[in-house]
Amino acid sequence: MLEAEQQWWKQNGVAISETIDRAGTPWVRMFDRHGKRVDEILYPREYLTILKRGYRSGVVWRALEEKSLLSTYLLMYTISFYDPGICCPYTVSLGTAVPLAKYGREELQSRFLPQLLRKDDSVWQGATWMTEIAGGSDLGAGVKTVARSNDDSWLLTGDKYFTSNAGAELAVAAARPHGAAPGVRGLALFLVPRYRRDGSLNYFIRRLKDKIATRSVPTGEVELRDSEGYLLGSADSGIYLILEVLNLSRVANSVVSVALAQRAMADALSYAECRMAFGRRIIDHPLLQHQFESRLQGLRSAFALAWESVRLLNEVWMYRPPYSERYHLFRLVAHLAKYWTAEFAVDTAKWAMEVHGGLGVLAEYGVERWLREAMILAIWEGTAHRQVLDALEVMERKQAHKMLFELLAEAAPSDELRQMESTVQNHLSLPTNEKEARAESLIRQLAIFTANKLSLTYPG
Ligand SMILES: Cc1cc2nc3c(=O)[nH]c(=O)nc-3n(C[C@H](O)[C@H](O)[C@H](O)COP(=O)(O)OP(=O)(O)OC[C@H]3O[C@@H](n4cnc5c(N)ncnc54)[C@H](O)[C@@H]3O)c2cc1C
Repeated sequence: MLEAEQQWWKQNGVAISETIDRAGTPWVRMFDRHGKRVDEILYPREYLTILKRGYRSGVVWRALEEKSLLSTYLLMYTISFYDPGICCPYTVSLGTAVPLAKYGREELQSRFLPQLLRKDDSVWQGATWMTEIAGGSDLGAGVKTVARSNDDSWLLTGDKYFTSNAGAELAVAAARPHGAAPGVRGLALFLVPRYRRDGSLNYFIRRLKDKIATRSVPTGEVELRDSEGYLLGSADSGIYLILEVLNLSRVANSVVSVALAQRAMADALSYAECRMAFGRRIIDHPLLQHQFESRLQGLRSAFALAWESVRLLNEVWMYRPPYSERYHLFRLVAHLAKYWTAEFAVDTAKWAMEVHGGLGVLAEYGVERWLREAMILAIWEGTAHRQVLDALEVMERKQAHKMLFELLAEAAPSDELRQMESTVQNHLSLPTNEKEARAESLIRQLAIFTANKLSLTYPG
């Protein structure tokens, strides 16, 4: 299945993806010719060819049909070697289908789930709307959207500032039920269809953003105006559901980051094998050769870390609050993976451009795209700061590092493990401000340590 996907991308997908990256982001057509508000996203036709193929292959339906996330993330890994951005719509569609399947009332599931799991081109797409203009890192303060109870549904009013896959048929959105507590504890997760029960538009697209990358994806701003919404789970456990949606996308982000780094390295290698300098192919110069070798080891380690986050998520994705220890271990590994793989992708993409010399900055060589795409991977689904601080929190509050060291005990020599353990313990006992201020170097060290040790247990 993965080989077929790869072949198809080499023969068909790559050319389409490159053209769309150059041509720019889709358009929104707000009114039809009779003046009726329609907010339709106008995609290049060929984009739908590559987009729909992934859905047909099973980026979403396989997860729920196979009751396993492995095929889904393997498909994303394969596809994002060619187009990392296209995994954004797949991820947010997965992030809509999973909470619906897990927490949706039976009536909601039978009304909406089959459309998200279709295996043909009529498949519905999902979207995940959390971020508002006041900020995405601090959702407790940033989410101003309010939900008011209305018979068997809710009416949502507010503005979402970053909405990837705008135009999706169904979204999950964070909102605060009227009168609920301030902060993250008062947030709930709602299902928001594109159309109301009477057939009119249920949300409005204010505009689409012009971005440095993921150019094919319509990332917009969305207005909710008494929009019909359906509560998922209970109102008082909303923040857990929101974090579960983020878990799915942070793990996807990690897998995509590794594929992107691998692609940048592959492009750098094929260039270095042809380019001559000082009478030799540049790959034959010791300095560059050493860089390739150590980066290849870095790639193996990054893959192991990303895949460990997939493996653990696959164990815990159906868990519900209150969570088990295994879930907290997953969270720590997922924060390390989201943080470190994105950093590795950015750094590798920059280096791959440098290997191309001045030609690396030229659009026609294509390698500059990987740096543009990698910068988005480092920011969305929570920036590096967020991952670092959340990793610190799950170690402090849930002692997740102890479970991590148990996990690594097989691969890591005990003296190295003890040393890493005491570094973490010493850090956790620092005064609060200092602990936070110096957290990045600790998390970086822990992420690299974990990735290197895990890579010893993974096939090369
Ligand atoms: C292309 C794209 C598509 C997106 N699509 C979606 C989407 O579909 N749905 C969605 O909900 N969101 C989406 N986002 C939003 C994304 O998740 C946010 O941009 C991200 O979470 C950061 O939030 P912010 O941009 O509001 O930055 P802010 O939260 O304002 O943060 C600004 C800076 O301050 C730092 N910072 C914040 N708090 C701290 C702290 N305590 N300590 C240290 N530093 C801190 C941040 O790390 C960041 O560097 C998208 C973003 C992009 C770029």
